Amino acid sequence: MNRRAAFAISLALLGGCTTAPRVVPAAQIQAVLPGRYDPDNSFAKIIRGELPAAKVYEDDRVLAFMDYKPVERGHVLVISKRSQARNLLDVDLADFDRIMAVARRIGQAQMKALGANGFSIEQNNGYGQTVLHLHVHVIPRYSGQPWGEKSGPPMPMEAREALAAQIRAALPPR
Ligand code: 5GP
Repeated sequence: MNRRAAFAISLALLGGCTTAPRVVPAAQIQAVLPGRYDPDNSFAKIIRGELPAAKVYEDDRVLAFMDYKPVERGHVLVISKRSQARNLLDVDLADFDRIMAVARRIGQAQMKALGANGFSIEQNNGYGQTVLHLHVHVIPRYSGQPWGEKSGPPMPMEAREALAAQIRAALPPR
């Protein structure tokens, strides 16, 4: 193959990557996720400061805070502050990128600060999803702990704040 042909093929492959859709067409979303974003969901209220949250990280686009019913000690939720995506179907992948960049820093901090042996990323769509504002769970995993379901009353805010401070202090640089 000559160099010109190789260059053309590389460009075509690159084009294939860069033209991958960043959003799913609206009609396609409505077919499986009818309705609209509810601006009064609890995470939208947390973003607006109408509900309290133990914040781990915040910038102008992303917020991370402690889950009030942790499935493991140090369970964090990461959300976009700008996107009104309900779940993975209607998120712009540029917003999802930013969420994931923070999620992986949180996971590292959970391991360092809390002695977790690893962490899981969970992101529910439809079944299992209770809050319709896209969120990524970052769940620290401790060896010997069975993987359980959430239950019981919310963890007291004071205990959540203490964990948030520990994780925040161990966040790696961007
Ligand atoms: P999903 O089941 O939708 O994937 O997860 C929603 C998560 O959000 C659950 O783990 C639940 O405990 C958590 N959650 C729901 N409402 C609130 C809230 O107002 N504050 C906090 N900190 N967590 C919440």
